[in-house]
Amino acid sequence: MDTVGLDDSCLGYEVILSEGDRSTPRCPHGPTLLFEKVRKRGEGGRRFYACSACRDRKDCNFFQWEDEKVSEARELARQANNKRQRAPFSQQQYSARFLQFISLPPDEKKFCQDCQLVLLADEVDAHAAHVRVPVAAALLRQPSRLLRPLDNNKSYAQYLFTERTARFLLGTLAALGYNKVLCVGTPRLHELIKSGNADGAAEPMKSLLLDIDFRYAQFYGQDEFCHYNMFNHHFFDGEASSAAVRAFLRESDGEKAVTVADPPFGGLVKPLAGSFSRISQTWRNQQSADGSYVDMPLIWIFPYFMEPRILACFPSLTMLDYQVDYDNHSLYKHGKTGRKQSPVRLFTNISPAEIVLPEEEGYRFCAICERYVGRLNEHCAECDVCPSKDGRQWKHCALCGRCVKPSWRHCQSCGRCALPDHPCDQSPGAEGCFNCASLAHKRKACPLKHISRSASKKGRGARTRQLAKLSARSGRIKKTK
Ligand code: SAH
Ligand code: ZN
Ligand code: ZN
Ligand code: ZN
Ligand code: ZN
Repeated sequence: MDTVGLDDSCLGYEVILSEGDRSTPRCPHGPTLLFEKVRKRGEGGRRFYACSACRDRKDCNFFQWEDEKVSEARELARQANNKRQRAPFSQQQYSARFLQFISLPPDEKKFCQDCQLVLLADEVDAHAAHVRVPVAAALLRQPSRLLRPLDNNKSYAQYLFTERTARFLLGTLAALGYNKVLCVGTPRLHELIKSGNADGAAEPMKSLLLDIDFRYAQFYGQDEFCHYNMFNHHFFDGEASSAAVRAFLRESDGEKAVTVADPPFGGLVKPLAGSFSRISQTWRNQQSADGSYVDMPLIWIFPYFMEPRILACFPSLTMLDYQVDYDNHSLYKHGKTGRKQSPVRLFTNISPAEIVLPEEEGYRFCAICERYVGRLNEHCAECDVCPSKDGRQWKHCALCGRCVKPSWRHCQSCGRCALPDHPCDQSPGAEGCFNCASLAHKRKACPLKHISRSASKKGRGARTRQLAKLSARSGRIKKTK
């Protein structure tokens, strides 16, 4: 990415999604995405290809101008690199290993923490100098507690649901009659379903996990896990995996399928929406003729301030008030009074009235909005909505003619509400925030500003600004979740 010149007219990057499969160059993470620099006066910048999955060039530094000629030598080197970075085993091999592993006597079931690998009998010696831990049967069914979360990895940004959130999701899906859950980047939900904790479900639920973290392949059969990139809808194991997904999405008698996705925050909304559309299309193609026009039920978990971007792609989604929280992220813990509130929400095309939010956590039903809302989210008669996005009680501004955050004041010179200490004449504009890509604020007011700052303590000044711009690439933030 060093080759991309950043000047003041450069405002970030836009992804150009192509219809149909053009022959895009590939990096180790599958087909790359085409980016275009966004400039102030609508002039398009030079387009280039870069990795779909990695926000950090340390993780994948693929770069190619759209009009660049790639020499044969470079193409070969690229292919060799793609091969080198493949998962150490194929999915078939992982599944075969798993069967061997579970047949080991209990005291021989060992996991190497250094290599993040379950060890077969003849592999133990090779890992003698590594930290190995016993794997109890219960842990085998909860790999998310055995594997080290990749939460220091900006690209994969693994943040695992708390018990509270995982159980809420499962209970909600069961109550709605879903019995097939396509878990896209939700390993903890997947394993909760697998462990048969389908609260309230009469029949066992089925679950298929799609995730880029191939360590999970060690614990599941080929009909339970697919190595998948949700930013380009790429199946690393090719046709075998897409066939598994098609089979899973075919609803026989009484079966109801739903997708639950929890992408890394700051992930590019447009490509994600593209992938979810293709999943929906696959689902539609598997069903018998009638009702073929509907979309597959979807729950997309993302921060509330990405709402405008998500709705721009999927106008049929509604954002719910439920606050999703994570075990390994202190900032995103659920807020009871005085504690931090989580900014993470559910976006869904399931009718919001049907998704009952837990009363014991203060959620209640608004009969006018026909959805469950947070404790402090009071219905505004003027706006005729329950306006709060962040969980706090918002107030109506008569001059703006809308509800705003409690901390905002109406500014005469800007003619709108803003934080009392805002710099005047700094409307977010069409490009939004360079830090998290929200359209609702500029980088200065970004609620995630401190997160990304601590992630790049070293660099100040020009380098920090460059990184911020690069990471903005129309929707990327540096440290996510
Ligand atoms: N809250 C979820 C985990 C969400 S963290 C749970 O507890 O189940 C984001 C997840 O998406 C991780 O599992 C990560 O491995 C996966 N992921 C990250 N980038 C991805 C990509 N490009 N394609 C598919 N999965 C990805
Ligand atoms: Zn090892
Ligand atoms: Zn209301
Ligand atoms: Zn106002
Ligand atoms: Zn002002």
